[in-house]
Amino acid sequence: MGIMTPESLSDSVKAAEKTSRINRRPEIDLGACSRCGGCIEVAPHVFRFCAGSGFVEVCELDYYDTELVDEAIKFCPEDCIYWVKDAGGSE
Ligand code: SF4
Repeated sequence: MGIMTPESLSDSVKAAEKTSRINRRPEIDLGACSRCGGCIEVAPHVFRFCAGSGFVEVCELDYYDTELVDEAIKFCPEDCIYWVKDAGGSE
């Protein structure tokens, strides 16, 4: 027990990759957004309606779940959700 095999090491690397993608965030093209609320249904802790403007906005998070955001991107009928590099990210 506790010995890292190549397989378990590979799983660890995959898990680290998944949680380390903090240098990108989802954005919404508000000009194209129909405010259908689909992204909020898929990922309610990532997207929300802005009470003031009524537009959909992206919540400020330290980490955006890649699979969940990708699911919202696929679900969006207007194709107006996309990933951008965060300002703090570097090449
Ligand atoms: S799923 Fe797309 S069109 Fe619908 S509210 Fe979200 S960003 Fe707008």
